[in-house]
Amino acid sequence: MQIERAERLKKLPPYLFKELDRLRDEVRAQGVDIIDFGVGDPDLPTPDHIVEALKKAVEDPSTHRYPSYSGMNDFRDCVARWYKKRFGVDLDPAREVIVLIGSKEGIAHIPLAFINPGDLALVPTPAYPVYHTGTIFAGGESYFMPLLEENDFLPDLNAIPEDVAEKARMMFINYPNNPTSAVAEEDFFRRVVDFARTYNIIVCHDAAYSELAFDGYKPMSFLQVEGAKEVGIEFHSLSKTYNMTGWRLGFAVGNAEVIQGLGQVKSNIDSGAFNAVQMAGIAALEGDQTCVEENCRIYKERRDVLVAGLRSAGLKPIVPKATFYVWCRIPENTTSTDFSMRLLKEAGIVTTPGNGFGEPGEGYVRFALTVPVERIEEAIERIKKLGV
Ligand SMILES: *Cc1c(COP(=O)(O)O)cnc(C)c1O
Repeated sequence: MQIERAERLKKLPPYLFKELDRLRDEVRAQGVDIIDFGVGDPDLPTPDHIVEALKKAVEDPSTHRYPSYSGMNDFRDCVARWYKKRFGVDLDPAREVIVLIGSKEGIAHIPLAFINPGDLALVPTPAYPVYHTGTIFAGGESYFMPLLEENDFLPDLNAIPEDVAEKARMMFINYPNNPTSAVAEEDFFRRVVDFARTYNIIVCHDAAYSELAFDGYKPMSFLQVEGAKEVGIEFHSLSKTYNMTGWRLGFAVGNAEVIQGLGQVKSNIDSGAFNAVQMAGIAALEGDQTCVEENCRIYKERRDVLVAGLRSAGLKPIVPKATFYVWCRIPENTTSTDFSMRLLKEAGIVTTPGNGFGEPGEGYVRFALTVPVERIEEAIERIKKLGV
């Protein structure tokens, strides 16, 4: 029998990290001590009080049944309270909050609710790949908005051609940003709301890193801007804030009709996040937040060591105000892929080449701060020895 994959899979961009993954496995098999700055997955454990809440919840048989489609009322109420407290934004938990099996799930599914075959979505580049792949799976096409350093890694809305804006049905944005670590302020979000209103575009803001920020900086919610709730929604995740990537819990909030559209897709595909995990999520959002402060303190310390070290090695990292990534310019005589390969082959250091997130990421590599300080120091020594 001949097994052929559907066109939508053939349309996916080539996986640029394949060669690098192969090389990493090869280098590791040679017995090299690898320092891995590649993965955006916290190395720190989930705080104890959240693990304890899960244990308790899982022993209650009522959690063992199918969850409700849009999420437990208690968790949605808790999200609304957290939003009010954290951002001063009012949400109706019944209509303006939906629980997700990790925010990636919701981001991947939402184009199915609003994109018809041939429709356009406005998608940043370089970016988290799911905005584009979700659009493709819905039969849509991405119009890529480059994130350039000269524009502080914000999309230039004025550069979007009129006919593209007229045709676009959705726009994805993500601040604090992965992979560039850039942050957005109120004036940018205001321009997005104006643009979305003018052209009737649904805005999806991915705020996965809203709680990971340094030096007293507090990222704002897109929904804090007047009129934002008319045009869009915001995705959040417990993954990065509480080191819960494996638990699969996130949520989306904002425009009730958009939330309902996403809910309709989901109710036909999945059956919601495990109730016990949602109860642990309540413990996370409602419990003592010193664990979040402690997380930020740890990432800030790592950031400072990495940034200072890379500078002393002659590189030009951008100092992030938020996220656990450092976006670093590479030397001029090389490419992102060659530079990453060289760090791996000659120093046993894994980084992610910027062009893997989209062409305008060429000229940069991304370091994830998911490595302890001693290992960062060791990596810096190796880079200095290598000479870049
Ligand atoms: C990690 C990440 C997410 C997804 O997190 P989930 O674990 O699926 O909640 C979403 N967006 C960005 C930009 C991320 O880096």
